[in-house]
Amino acid sequence: MAARRSGGLWRWGELLPVQDAGFITYLGEGDTPLQPAPRLGSWLGLRRLEVKRESLNPTGSFKARGMAVAVSRAVELGATHLVAPSAGNAGGALAAYAAAAGVRATVIMPADAPAQNQVEVLAAGARLILLEGLISDCGRLAALFRDEAGAFDLSTLKEPYRVEGKKTMGFELAQQLGWRLPDAIVYPTGGGTGIVGMWKGFEELEALGAIGAERPRMFSVQAEGCAPIVRAFEHGERFARPWEGAETAAAGLRVPSAVGDFLILDCLRQSGGAAIAVAERDILETRSRLGGIGFGYTSLETAAAAAGLKALVESGLIHEDEEVILFDTGAGFKSEPPTFESPRSIPNDPDYWEEKVIPDVL
Ligand SMILES: *Cc1c(COP(=O)(O)O)cnc(C)c1O
Repeated sequence: MAARRSGGLWRWGELLPVQDAGFITYLGEGDTPLQPAPRLGSWLGLRRLEVKRESLNPTGSFKARGMAVAVSRAVELGATHLVAPSAGNAGGALAAYAAAAGVRATVIMPADAPAQNQVEVLAAGARLILLEGLISDCGRLAALFRDEAGAFDLSTLKEPYRVEGKKTMGFELAQQLGWRLPDAIVYPTGGGTGIVGMWKGFEELEALGAIGAERPRMFSVQAEGCAPIVRAFEHGERFARPWEGAETAAAGLRVPSAVGDFLILDCLRQSGGAAIAVAERDILETRSRLGGIGFGYTSLETAAAAAGLKALVESGLIHEDEEVILFDTGAGFKSEPPTFESPRSIPNDPDYWEEKVIPDVL
């Protein structure tokens, strides 16, 4: 393995499930920057804020990490047809990695999944099924593909390998901070494998002696229109009841019932963190604000996490002096676009430019 080590998250090859490096499908995933964010920090009232830029992964979200490892391993195990339900970014990542590995992929999405996510699946040559139901119904159809068509089911936490890919976020974070961990991590949570994977990564690093027993407080942010983990956290429950009528434009957070609910809740509680919900309006407003302060064009999930962090600082759950890592999980072009009043076009006429356009900017 070491001899054929590749870049990105495959630097951690010995800690990943792929045995023969010849099966690695690498599109550039992992090794994302950890950037100080002083302007965002001053808006949020934080002095030591850094952002983990997962939006720079291939296919524009951290889902690439999980799919890179899971697809590579599934192909090593002999799979030739991969299937997964997806409400958004997982489908695009699966399609891209399956195409790169040269195997078939079927993605099953709720019919109301964002058009951007649908197009990405089709562009990578995968089969897309739009189901008139919820993500959980898509999961049931995926299981049928597994049982009756012999497909390898990559549903969240129904196989062990996507989490293995996501744990590399924890490895990178520790390494980038000089083998220590921050005070707090804020993550937009849907199915929860981001949080759960990172937590597993920390445990492995401790077992290897790379870090000590200290852990960051882990904070999950969900949308008010779909907040099953927040509700369970607040009620002291270990399992989350399914959320009825889930509604949020942040597709990655529209997960009414997470298979790993207890894993997420255990992690939040053990770490001394919390789960918090943000209003839809705050998510949209925060996305605009993030753009204006130079953070870039972000996904609605990232905007939700930033809005949640603001609320956490305001409520005193995170203190201004603490070292905080905000996860930018996805790029703006992966979400429904914001609506702007589009600028009116101007005539292609130098006299008009002199008379009307230039005076306007002076
Ligand atoms: C899937 C997704 C999330 C939620 O992550 P989980 O690991 O499912 O909790 C957050 N942001 C983006 C951009 C996503 O695609």
